Amino acid sequence: MATGSFATAINCMDGRVQSPVKHWLKDNTGAEYVDMITEPGADKLVADGSLSQREAIRAKVLISVNNRKSGCIAIVGHHDCAGNPVSKQEHLKHIRKAIATVTSWNLGVRVLGLWVNDKWVVEPLTESGS
Ligand SMILES: [Zn+2]
Repeated sequence: MATGSFATAINCMDGRVQSPVKHWLKDNTGAEYVDMITEPGADKLVADGSLSQREAIRAKVLISVNNRKSGCIAIVGHHDCAGNPVSKQEHLKHIRKAIATVTSWNLGVRVLGLWVNDKWVVEPLTESGS
């Protein structure tokens, strides 16, 4: 592909999670590049943020989908998150709610959830379980 293929991550700004998420998406979606949209506690922001917070993230996602033709959007939560300091179970709830939010944007691309564990290894969320 002449311009390369893209995936999109709605990820925490935490510097420990950028590389694992980028590499997981490249390895598992076939994307050559990953557009990284970073916010502190991004999973909670998309799940429970104000309308203006969610719209700001949506505007960034639209650039990635419309201009870069991203084929996949990943919502990421991670261990030891300062921006969203809750249990793993709460993070998984936020990620699932965020998936529903992003899916409701009707962008026509795959939406998935990722958990970065205490070893900084990426674990994809299953469709229904945890
Ligand atoms: Zn974080």
